Amino acid sequence: MSDLMQGFTFPGIRTRVVFGSGTLSRVGEEIEALGRSRALVLSTPPQADAAGTLAGDLGGLSAGTFTEATMHTPIEVTEAAMEAYKTAGADCVVSFGGGSTIGLGKAIATRTGADHVAIPTTYAGSEMTDVLGETVDGEKTTRRDASIRPETVIYDVDTTLTLPVGMTVTSSLNAISHGIEALYAEDRNPILSQMAVEAMRVFKRSLHRVTEDPQNRAARTDVLYGAWLCSTALGYVSMALHHKLAHVIGGSFGMPHAETHAILLPHTTGFNAAATAELLAPVAEIFGGSVGGGLWDFAKRAGAPLRLRDLGLSEADLDRAAEIATRAPYPNPRPFDRHDIRNLLQAAWEGSRPEGE
Ligand code: NAD
Repeated sequence: MSDLMQGFTFPGIRTRVVFGSGTLSRVGEEIEALGRSRALVLSTPPQADAAGTLAGDLGGLSAGTFTEATMHTPIEVTEAAMEAYKTAGADCVVSFGGGSTIGLGKAIATRTGADHVAIPTTYAGSEMTDVLGETVDGEKTTRRDASIRPETVIYDVDTTLTLPVGMTVTSSLNAISHGIEALYAEDRNPILSQMAVEAMRVFKRSLHRVTEDPQNRAARTDVLYGAWLCSTALGYVSMALHHKLAHVIGGSFGMPHAETHAILLPHTTGFNAAATAELLAPVAEIFGGSVGGGLWDFAKRAGAPLRLRDLGLSEADLDRAAEIATRAPYPNPRPFDRHDIRNLLQAAWEGSRPEGE
């Protein structure tokens, strides 16, 4: 039976999206369109100046800034931000930054009912999802809830021109991983699959143009468009082995988020390609050759890190990582056991090119 004949559910796309160069100037009108009038602007410390400028441009619509967002949304930071939100008399949040800042915006929104305008400046893809990961006493828990999803997302390519090349590459591979897992997701649908394939084409044609010239606005626009497509895929279908492994390596071993995704991607995709050749055929066509090998070549050419060992993960950790990753069952198109995952992790640790699936 063809994939289509099995039927599907398309959940719709619930977030308003404003995309284009210069759209940062439209934050005020988007706040007003939500019926709100006092926005707390959020960022990480390195992006505090840009957040300050944005708050200044918002004039009376700004309730000030909170610029202490950090990776994995620790509860202490959320509590401090909640205090700032209440003291400022804010009625909505504007998150300016990558997944860390958007995570903080989600944490405030779900606790207060605040509307959330997200302005992503990386390609990690948190903005279109209803997922929030939070850390309490060093332990990360993840939950899904409709109140977590931002109301409005503004993609302004101008805010991405400062993203360092290394981060541009790993964040793009992070985005591609959402698109690839959407193609074989249990609850996949043809609309999001089309969006995911379009994203692959866009990244293939434009990521190298950005690494060669990070100020190339046209290429950056393409890549940000690909990031939106992938974030939407992440937001509406379920992810499988790749995201599980990235979560284990990032969460239990403290490895950096985007780099971990980037290194694992050719290996997890190569593994699953053996069971999903038809669904991943567009990926093979776009990246060339075998799916895992084609993605590995693409990542290498872009200058991405290729070995988990270079992130500081020890070989001795691989046994425990494989054990944690296979403790509880979860949906994946290709069945696996601990031995399979241990082999996959070894290849990712050594950085070898996945061959022939
Ligand atoms: P990040 O948000 O931590 O940003 C990394 C660094 O880059 C920060 O110092 C930031 O200030 C800087 N930066 C961001 N944009 C910049 C720009 N345009 N110019 C210069 N510097 C810039 O990294 P990330 O990879 O975007 O996000 C990772 C976090 O997001 C993780 O905690 C991850 O779990 C979470 N995440 C969540 C979801 C979800 O759906 N809940 C999805 C993806 C990622």
